[in-house]
Amino acid sequence: MCLFCEIIKGNIPSTKVYEDDMIYAFNDINPVAPVHFLVVPKEHICCVNGITAENSKYVAHIFEKIPEIAKSLGIESYRIINNCGADAGQTVMHLHFHVIGGKELGEKIL
Ligand code: 5GP
Ligand code: ZN
Repeated sequence: MCLFCEIIKGNIPSTKVYEDDMIYAFNDINPVAPVHFLVVPKEHICCVNGITAENSKYVAHIFEKIPEIAKSLGIESYRIINNCGADAGQTVMHLHFHVIGGKELGEKIL
């Protein structure tokens, strides 16, 4: 059972901010900023290591839609974060991009 596959199916409730036939975006349950949503492909992809020539269209679509979703939530400046693998802090093994904003984000690693 993959948590985000269950969220996409609607078996686990979430606060949707955007959905189409390829992707689903919803608020993070534990936000680190006033705006913090996650964008996931509807096809299960484990992580960035699982991106292939066949499924990379989902990733392209995610990045096409992020500006639109962010704008709909009132932000045009934001940070996109992806954790790939356990050492990097990935806790849900379904590819997802964090989009955070709505305040000055301050300190950063890069
Ligand atoms: P990761 O640490 O894998 O990069 O990010 C996983 C994110 O999923 C975390 O920020 C966590 O707060 C969020 N999360 C975990 N479980 C749920 C849930 O059931 N619903 C929602 N909306 N977010 C979740
Ligand atoms: Zn999944």
